[in-house]
Formats: sequence, structure tokens, C-alpha cells
Amino acid sequence: MKQIITRFPPSPTGYLHVGGARTALFNWLYARHSGGRFVLRIEDTDQVRSTQESADAILESLEWLGIDWDEGPYFQSQRFHIYKEYVQKLIDSGHAYYCSCTPDQVEEMRKKGMAAGGKAKYDGTCREKGLKKGENTVVRFKAPLTGTTILEDAVKGNIVFQNSDLDDFIIARSDGTPTYNFVVVVDDITMNINTIIRGDDHVSNTPKQIMLYKAMGSPLPLFAHVPMVLGKDKTRLSKRHGAMSVTAYRDMGYLPDALINYLVRLGWSFGDQEFFTRSDLIEKFNLENIGHAAGVFDTDKLMALNADHIKAAAPSDLSKLMISFLKAKGIEAQEGAFLESVIKTLAPRSKTLIDMADAAMFYFGDKVAYEEAAAKKFLTPEASDIIIKLIEKLAALEDFSEKSLEGAFVALMEETGLKLGKIAQPVRVALSGKTASPGIFEIIEIMGKDRVVSRLKDALAFIR
Ligand code: GLU
Repeated sequence: MKQIITRFPPSPTGYLHVGGARTALFNWLYARHSGGRFVLRIEDTDQVRSTQESADAILESLEWLGIDWDEGPYFQSQRFHIYKEYVQKLIDSGHAYYCSCTPDQVEEMRKKGMAAGGKAKYDGTCREKGLKKGENTVVRFKAPLTGTTILEDAVKGNIVFQNSDLDDFIIARSDGTPTYNFVVVVDDITMNINTIIRGDDHVSNTPKQIMLYKAMGSPLPLFAHVPMVLGKDKTRLSKRHGAMSVTAYRDMGYLPDALINYLVRLGWSFGDQEFFTRSDLIEKFNLENIGHAAGVFDTDKLMALNADHIKAAAPSDLSKLMISFLKAKGIEAQEGAFLESVIKTLAPRSKTLIDMADAAMFYFGDKVAYEEAAAKKFLTPEASDIIIKLIEKLAALEDFSEKSLEGAFVALMEETGLKLGKIAQPVRVALSGKTASPGIFEIIEIMGKDRVVSRLKDALAFIR
């Protein structure tokens, strides 16, 4: 079988939104799954709306998602010489012609067509005139007038278009710039793309593109048009539904693997499996299981999946991501054993990396801020005695392992006749400022003797 070659061709007119990211993912996964190639192309022919910042932002988002490309990024703006060559080829082979009709004349034809109960179409005035290139001539494609064009779609099945519904569309404007459908086809042919997975908003462009492939004598790629991503109210996903950009989810503390998992599941399924690692997706992704219904973007589900990915991630991988979230809170953490131990205690209880950074604060710095209610309830004069005794016991400990800490607490329980909870709660508040935290022995072990003793002394001072 020939090698699968897919592509992702974003228009750099804004950030990469989650719908676009899903399209990129499907193409990338299919290439990786099949040992194929994935090509990145920036469709910046609309020079008014395209910006370098958008192109950079899209690349940054793809990199963050871990979607790598084998070729490109190609920029359409650097390929005008190629488009020109292909326009000429179509003229030379009789598949395209110069047209000197003015925009007003074409508008008139359209109105007439509609008035006659038909389509708003160019009427073919210049089709057989054999005009030469003139100052205001455009180049039109000589589209088939009768018959049908069939899109054999891998997701939607066969879609039949009546050729009589289409007209001789423009492939090059009077200033020589090529038009959208034409450049897409020239690019896909010259980049050897044989599999095109994209949003079904492109279905209506496809008959024109198929006609161009045929005119150029090129085999058709496999098309797979995927239903769009919708918001919870079943309308097309937009800003009204919340954050749209990939980078917004990055900044809210989502893991790239969680976002990938979620986006793929929005339009593809594998039995009722919900949780997929990256390699799992690469192994299992196929075109057959792309869904026929639109995916509904649900941030609650995404968050639940994010929590699962945080639980499953290696602490060393989470540390890399956590450093910038801690930095945003003024903490200069470094990768290494300490940060990894901190993360291990928080991963089971964090939905996002922001949650985790918030919860991690007490592990760092000299002082801890007490939650008012927690301090009021637990840092009381009765707690002083417990804390004083605990300081003595901890100071005497040689080894600060969970086991010996447990021993110290058991001794304290025997001495005071109090249950563990009675002892642990004031200590927890003294150390973390809160009534809920990871296990008390865990946090004592990780914080280390000096910091623990100093926090306990601070609590005593606070009580007094
Ligand atoms: N540049 C187009 C877009 O961003 C994609 C074109 C295509 O996939 O054929 O929607």
C-alpha cells in the first residue's frame, strides 16, 4: 500500500482554535498510525487577513500539543510562481480561459440567472472566445456543464453534485493572484497529499476541487469530512461558549495529552473507552470510527479528563509543566526530587495545573498564610500543648521517614490520650494553613525537619 500523506493547512488569521486543533490531530494521528507523513502548510494567500503573529501562534500551539510535522511549514505566499505555472498549464490544455467580463456584467448575469429561477452563475460569455491575456482579464476554469461530480467521502459516503449547479469559477484574478480552491488543489497535488481530513464546512468546496484534479490529470485524494465541533447549545462553537484557543487551555492548566484525548474523542470513538494516552491514540486511530454526529464541546468533561491525565502522568513530566505555573505565583521551583514529591501528593486531588500550583504553595517559602476559619477552629490554646510536645518529638528524630514520623505521632497519642485526628488537624493547619491537605506524614516528610519545626513554632506564636 502506498504511504499515507496527510496535511494540516490553517489560515493564519487568528489563534489555533480547538476545532482546528482537532482537524490537525486527526491528520497527524492518521499519518502516525499508518507510518505515513504529515505536512504543515500555512494558507496565507489572503494577505490582508493573514499575519505572521497568527502563523507563529498556530505553530506554538501545535508544538505545545506535541503535534510534529514531517514537512513544512510551507507558506502559500511563497508559492505564487507555482500557481502561475499551473494556471498556464490549464489554459494551455484548454481547461481554462481568459475572461474580460467586468464585475458589473457578471453581476447582471447572476441576477438574470436567479430571476429565471436558476442559480446565480457566470453565463460562459468568454468561454469559447479564445481571448488573450488583457489588462483586466481573469482566468476562469472551464467547468463541465452537464453530468455529476461525485465526492466519495470516507465519513459521509457518496455525495452527488450536479455540475449544472456550478459555473466557470475564477482561478486567477485580474491582478494575477490565484483563488482559494485552485491553490488548495495545486498544493495538495504538488505536496503529494493523498488523504484529506477536514471539517465538513469544506464539503461545498469539494466538487470544484475534484473538477480541478480531473482537469490536471491527477488522482483524487481520499476525502474525509468530519462534522464540526458544537457548543453545548448545539450551535457552532464560538467565543460565546467560552475559551476557544488552544493556548487558553494551556494557560488554564490543562495537559496537552488531556486536550488531545478530549478533542479526538469529540469526533471519534473506540468502543466506550474514554481515556487514551498519546500512544494509545496513535495505535488505535482510524477513519472508520470517525463519528457522523457533531461533537459537543463540554468543558466539564474536559476538566474531568484532565484530572485523570494528571493522575496518570509521570511526576517528572508534570514538574516540567508546573514550573511556569508556580513562577506565576512567585515561586522559583526547580525540577528534581523535591518538586516531584510535592506533585505526587497533589496529583490525585488536582483538576488542573493551576489547582495544583495553588495547593502546592504551602510547601514553599518560609511562612504560610492560615485560612481564617481553619486557624480559628484549630490553632487554639489547647493545641499549644500538642504542638509543643510534637516539636520536641520531631526535633529528636534522626530520620524523617513516614515510618518514624508515624512512631512519633503514636507516642504522642499515648502520652496525651488523644486520637490521631485531634493531633493531626492543628498540625495540618500549622503546616499548610488549611484543613484539607495531602496526608500529614507525607507533607511532614517532604517539607523536612527545619521547615516543619519552624512552621510549628510560628503556629505557637500565633496562638499566643
Ligand atoms: N485553510 C483552510 C481552513 O483553515 C483549510 C483548507 C482545507 O483543509 O482544504 O479552513
